[in-house]
Amino acid sequence: MSVKIQISLDLGQSLPPNTIEYWDYPWNGHFIQHDWNCPNRKLSDSKELSSECSLYDCHIRGPAYIQTTYQGCVLETRERNYYDDSDFYALVWDESTQSIKEIEYGTTRAWTYFNSAKEDASPEILTKAFAYRYESLLKISDFCEQSDMSKLQIGRHVKVIKGRKVPIGTEGFICQIYNNLYDKLNQKIKLQTETTHVFTYERNLEFLDSSKFSWSQEKKFNWVYRMSNSSTSWVCNYIPSLIYM
Ligand SMILES: [Zn+2]
Repeated sequence: MSVKIQISLDLGQSLPPNTIEYWDYPWNGHFIQHDWNCPNRKLSDSKELSSECSLYDCHIRGPAYIQTTYQGCVLETRERNYYDDSDFYALVWDESTQSIKEIEYGTTRAWTYFNSAKEDASPEILTKAFAYRYESLLKISDFCEQSDMSKLQIGRHVKVIKGRKVPIGTEGFICQIYNNLYDKLNQKIKLQTETTHVFTYERNLEFLDSSKFSWSQEKKFNWVYRMSNSSTSWVCNYIPSLIYM
């Protein structure tokens, strides 16, 4: 279906492309926004301001402008839930930059009920997205093989050798390092594994260098292929930071 987002227009601005003017507010039918003190406040379906309204701060609600973007280019959607609020994201193929990007299209922190996103990527777009992931992941794995192996850094290939939360032997790439101001030698780490991501601490990790890293070319390409194909993988979120560090 694409991504639909409510936008606001400046006075006199013409409609941007793929934007519709939307008057039908199905959940309330209120065309007039009455002032809290206006006696007409409970007349929900009046379409014009009455003479009483002029005494208060009442106004006619304008239309909503809904713009449709990324038609045929939505790869995945997800939500991130917090204690009180949720944010909604779409992973899309961006034709202008020929890359994958994540956009936030809605949240419960503000009024975004008009906004929506639905997975609709065409086979052609899925192929482009796959190729992009594949290329990017290859760069990451090349980087990991060549990088300075003495440093804690994003992109390092590591193995979990201690700790209780993450199974011993889990391997993955460091995709995020959380700054622990109080204990610089024991940073919290987010690891991207083949199938998911896990959190652990630096002290639980063994840093694999390329000589210990018994990853054959075949295994590497298989991994890259699997990750590129994975529909639940949000690994591409990390790709820009991994490649351009
Ligand atoms: Zn009024």
